[in-house]
Amino acid sequence: MQDCIFCKIIKKEIPCEKVYEDETVLAFLDINPVNLGHTLVVPKKHFENIYDIEENEVTHLIKIAKKISIALKKMGADGTNITINNGKAAGQVIPHFHTHVIPRSVEDNLPLWPAKKPKEGELKEVAKKIISML
Ligand code: AMP
Ligand code: ZN
Repeated sequence: MQDCIFCKIIKKEIPCEKVYEDETVLAFLDINPVNLGHTLVVPKKHFENIYDIEENEVTHLIKIAKKISIALKKMGADGTNITINNGKAAGQVIPHFHTHVIPRSVEDNLPLWPAKKPKEGELKEVAKKIISML
């Protein structure tokens, strides 16, 4: 897609620090890493996010995110966060589907999002709603 920064990286119009490539996926380092080794796994085909990506594409992408997680663990990471931001409200800035693979250390003390305590009966109610939408 024209004007998509990740499509431009895939077409080699913009440089990146590539760590993996195959027929359908490119993985490269995030220019603003949460921790060093923070990698983005990106489908070569343009999809905006989880709502429009093809199932086989997302399946393959997660396999590659696993492969990169294992590599980061071998390099000394204590764990990884694998996150996908879908939509502006969820913090998605680049509208081309991507998986963040973020190496974590027990000492990095990064905050996760704060949890909210649900009111009585709310969990049951929302579970019902989700089930009815599946
Ligand atoms: P998101 O908020 O999930 O859309 O994340 C987009 C990510 O892309 C951010 O973490 C940016 O630092 C990263 N990013 C933006 N431009 C580039 C680029 N040219 N090369 C590598 N990473 C980039
Ligand atoms: Zn794109």
